[in-house]
Amino acid sequence: SVKTSGKRNYRFYDEKFHDALRARLEREAELRHAIGHDQLVMHYQPRVDISTGTTSSMEALVRWAHPSRGVLEPLEFIPLAEETGLILDLGALVIDKVCAQLACWAQRGQQLVPVSINVSPRQFNETDVAKILSTSLARHNVDPRLIEIELTESSMMGDSHDVANALTAIQKMGIKLLVDDFGTGYSSLSQLQRLDFDVLKVDRAFTSGLERTGEGNVFFKAIITMAHALGMRVVAEGVETLEQIRILKSLKCDEIQGFYISRPLPPSDTQPILPRWFFPSTA
Ligand code: C2E
Ligand code: MG
Ligand code: MG
Ligand code: MG
Repeated sequence: SVKTSGKRNYRFYDEKFHDALRARLEREAELRHAIGHDQLVMHYQPRVDISTGTTSSMEALVRWAHPSRGVLEPLEFIPLAEETGLILDLGALVIDKVCAQLACWAQRGQQLVPVSINVSPRQFNETDVAKILSTSLARHNVDPRLIEIELTESSMMGDSHDVANALTAIQKMGIKLLVDDFGTGYSSLSQLQRLDFDVLKVDRAFTSGLERTGEGNVFFKAIITMAHALGMRVVAEGVETLEQIRILKSLKCDEIQGFYISRPLPPSDTQPILPRWFFPSTA
């Protein structure tokens, strides 16, 4: 009868639901284990000053050296970390690993450039990021001016008063603040001005729009003009071609980051990317 099949259907979905739940709990346990057992590693991608060709900073990007699945990219585990709250432990660990890495490079006499760290909205809303930073900086004896913080526009949405206080505290330590993925979220111009960011990183969607001449360029130029008026430097994310660099230079963009310069690299490979870059003109 209709009633029986309805029941069967119900049971079917119920089991599927439980399977999905079990799989998710397993993945969560696995990620928690990874955080506690040093399976997370940081890779570093340079950001280069267009006019001088020098590396102004490197961005720390987390990877999971999974024991059986190989090296996993953030998209495969950051969303789960966000949903489960594991991002709080993961985020504190990332901050500590970056400070430890800077101390290690310094000890080896390597050239140091600041490192930017991605901090998620939940970290800002649920932990004292300024305190976590100062604890790790002190533990590894690292100069706060070697650290920069990247946050997306969505981080500024939540309880804006608390977030603003946290950001001010971080900035007072000498740490620069960067807006990440600009153009994909909903930050208002007044928020940008009020929070006094140092650097605006324009999402790679706008960079990939550059080669098609016309409107893409006009829009990017408008962002640059606005950022400069607010006292911010501008970084183009996702730069993959020399043509894009040429256009960005003509638009007065300050810095570039992307596969054209370098993919994110393990810490042992970062030294060769620090020398000066030369961008030949294609015109
Ligand atoms: P994001 O902060 O915007 O980082 C830039 C992403 O774009 C990185 O991906 C980088 O490898 C990639 N990328 C760089 N240049 C190019 C390019 O020329 N072309 C293309 N197609 N892609 C490029 P990744 O490492 O997979 O990281 C993805 C996102 O995961 C990051 O976006 C960031 O939001 C998040 N993430 C990474 N590490 C951390 C972390 O330690 N903590 C937190 N909370 N989030 C992180
Ligand atoms: Mg970033
Ligand atoms: Mg970004
Ligand atoms: Mg991005």
